[in-house]
Formats: sequence, C-alpha cells, structure tokens
Amino acid sequence: MTSTSDRRTKMPDADLIARFAAIVGADHAITDAAEQAPHLREWRDLYVGRTPLIVKPKTTEEVARLLALANAEGIGVVAQGGNTGLVGGQIPRESGHEIVLSLTRMRRIRSVDAAGGTMTVEAGLTLAEAQVAARTAGRLFPLSLASEGSATIGGTLATNAGGVAVLAYGTARALVSGLEVVLADGRVWDGLRALKKDNTGYDLRDLFVGSEGTLGIITAATLRLFPQPEERATAFVALPSLDELLPFFQLAEAQAGGALTVFEFMSGELLSFVTRHIPGTRKPLAGEVPWYVLLEISSAAGRASPLLDELLVKAAEGGLISDAAVATSLNQAAELWRLREAASEAQKGEGGSIKHDVSVPVGRIPEFLVKAAAVVQRVCPGARPVPFGHFGDGNVHYNVSQPPPMARDAFLALWEEMARAVHDVVVSLGGSISAEHGIGQLKREELVRVKSAVEIELMQSIKGALDPKGILNPGKLLS
Ligand code: ZN
Repeated sequence: MTSTSDRRTKMPDADLIARFAAIVGADHAITDAAEQAPHLREWRDLYVGRTPLIVKPKTTEEVARLLALANAEGIGVVAQGGNTGLVGGQIPRESGHEIVLSLTRMRRIRSVDAAGGTMTVEAGLTLAEAQVAARTAGRLFPLSLASEGSATIGGTLATNAGGVAVLAYGTARALVSGLEVVLADGRVWDGLRALKKDNTGYDLRDLFVGSEGTLGIITAATLRLFPQPEERATAFVALPSLDELLPFFQLAEAQAGGALTVFEFMSGELLSFVTRHIPGTRKPLAGEVPWYVLLEISSAAGRASPLLDELLVKAAEGGLISDAAVATSLNQAAELWRLREAASEAQKGEGGSIKHDVSVPVGRIPEFLVKAAAVVQRVCPGARPVPFGHFGDGNVHYNVSQPPPMARDAFLALWEEMARAVHDVVVSLGGSISAEHGIGQLKREELVRVKSAVEIELMQSIKGALDPKGILNPGKLLS
C-alpha cells in the first residue's frame, strides 16, 4: 500500500547520501546492512524497516543541517532513540526511502541545578543514565520503565512515555519543563526553560511531547527533579477476586496519600507465566490467586514501613486482600519488582500474544476487564487474556496469549479484529486506545476510527503548519 507521504518524499540518490554523510562524518553514516540491522527491527518483531542511510549526529547543529538538507530535497527522516518503542514509530517503512536519524551519540549532561530541581540533558542520554545523574546530585528523576537501560530521554519525551511512577509523578510530559527542538526546515527552537510557571501563549513544549517525531526532533530537554525518598516499603499482595481491586486501591490512596508511589496489578495466570519462563523467579505467595498487586510506599526515613503495615492490616481485616509478602531487604524488593517487570518478556514463552495498551477511568477498570474478556472469547475461543499494568493510572496492558494448541501465525492474524473489539469496549467506557505507547504505525488506522473528525483535522493542521513538506516520520501517527 502506498500512502500519500510515500509519494511526497523521494529516495535519496548516491550524491545526496554522500552529502548527508559528510555532515556527520563517514564513521557515523551507516550504509552497511549488518550494522544497520539493530536499528531496523522493533524488539517484538512486529516491524522491520529498510533505509539507505542511518546518520548519528553529535550536536544540535548537525541535526539542524541534516534536516535543512532533507527538507530542501524532500527526503523523509525517521528520528530514533533507543529503539524500544512498541508501535513501530521509530522504524522506517519498508519502502526504504527514509533516512534514520539516531540521537544516540547526543548524550551530554549540559547542566544540573540540584537546588532549583532541574537538569538539562541531551536527547540520546538513556533514562537509566538520567536517573543516575539525578541521584548523584541528591535528587530523583522519577520516570521509570522496564526498558530504561536503552530507552532515551528524547524517545520517552517524543512518545510521552509512562511507566511505573506515573501514579505519583505523572507521565514524561509532567517531568519536562523545557525543550530544544530542531524543526523540519532546520531552524532550532531553544525552549530550554527551567520554569514551573510560564503563561506566555501556546504551549509549544506540550505540542512536541508525544508528537512521535512528526513535528520536530527533540535534541535536548530540561527535566524536573524531585526529592529522593529516604525509605521505600514494598509488598506483593494477593487479592481474592476482581471485586477487591478497586476498593483496595481506594484504601491504599486514603491511607498513604501522596506516599503511595506504585500500585501495579497483574493477573494470577500472568504471574504463573513469569515463574514458568523467567529463570530465577518464584511465586512469593502460596496458592492459586486470581489477582496480584505490587505496591510501594515512599517517604522520609521511618514512615513508609509503618504506613504499609497499617494499610495491609486494615485491608486484611476488611477482606480486601488474602495474603501479602512484604520485602524486608532491598534484595527482596528487587525480587518482587522482577515479577512485575518480567511480565512482557514472560509472554513470549506462551506463543503469540496480541497486545493492547489502553486506559479507562480508574473506577471502570474492573468493568473493562469483564467486558474485554467476553469479547476476546468471541473473537478467539480459548485465548488467554493476561492483563497487567498501572492500576492507579487507569492503564491496562490488556495482552492476550494464544490458545496453546493454536498456530502462532493463525492467532496473530486475528490482531486487527481483536484490537477493534477491545478498543470498542475501551471507547464505550470513555477510555483511550493508547495510554503510554503512542500511535506509530500500529494504531494509525484505529486513531482515525475512534477520534472525531474535528480532532483529526486539528492534528493535521498542526502537522501541516510545522512540517509542510511532510518529511518528518512520514506515515506515522497520522495518515
Ligand atoms: Zn506500562
């Protein structure tokens, strides 16, 4: 299928490839297929792309020169960070026309203002490196997700990533106070402001956060830093049934307030996938239980553990929980975290898996889980839903593993049909078809199906204004 933007951008010829390469230097212009390979495959294998050239600029100025040339010549450019995205937004299309601009060499920490609570870093710094830089300055950069060792600041901002600390600190959007962005025509917008309040017209920063490389390329960001909690108390809790999930969350919020920093849930069947397929993991509690919650309370020294104990006693008295494992050391806490973090990886061991990253109002998660399970059985009898995710954010990773005897490909062929059915339930409950992964290539058609014409037209006019030639990440997010 050829989209409009395929026709608008063209294939760079040898002369043009040489001009792009000259901007970054031959060592950082990759044309060799083997060297390109890791940049062209998404880790779930849903998307494999082709490109004549991958460029790895070192400075904002090089990015600006690359985009000015691409814009003048009508060449599509796909920005890429750590290549951990889950919707194919960072992978060039199979047409092989687009060049890939990898930000991974731009990894400087430009400045840290510990007292003011901000830090300015370049887009290619990994999330884990940013966390360490903040910790070294005695502060916390809270954005945290399973792929943080590879995921970059630029990528997480371009996709407005979420993760496991959103409950207390918000998504990537809430953690950035300023951006430096290279525009489609090569101009640089220096919006690296460290302000908490800035009420001077349209919020350009928020326009670029979550734009998935379609409006500009983020080259640096001023991040917000927070006090480092002195104590964390962690528990893995068993719930007797779905009915207790919401009341237990409400009780946790009421008891711990802002100190409740993590409230993650997963199905019992998913935990058994984890202990079956991930070496070194074991069930922390005896018996077969339908739902589990990983819970963390963060505070100044001496407060988190008593708060957690009080909460668990109250919950047990009220019949909201049936059992709990409380970590008594950092090692034990890490073991409990591992069970949650391995949830995606463990599904690979059970054959094909159809994934949905959706959100609904928190109070409607239980209703969503019941209704979604019914539509899944209608589309594929015997399929195994293994929901998990960020309960406190209303964000469910509604993943569905294939029936054991079914062929993997036959199951995966049902992806579109199943996604539509699950998304219809989401929309009927006032939810969103992408909570934290973005749209990319995976949900582009679904976006048009579930959004109003007015909303799509507004997005298209913004795209047209900022990227009139359509060179930035063509065919992603919007058709
Ligand atoms: Zn998630």
